Amino acid sequence: MITYEVTCRYCRQPFHVVEGTKKYADYKKNHQANFSCDTCDRLIEDDSRKYLFNRD
Ligand SMILES: [Zn+2]
Repeated sequence: MITYEVTCRYCRQPFHVVEGTKKYADYKKNHQANFSCDTCDRLIEDDSRKYLFNRD
């Protein structure tokens, strides 16, 4: 299994992208792309969900 270490753009923690995932494909396309770790992905998802629910 091939992995690359990248840095999360939000928490600045290094994490690994794993072969076969979307992030891995993004990394192969653009090594300078901004990556977010799974933890931050989940937080962002939660936040956007909260935002949607609290809009009114
Ligand atoms: Zn992160």
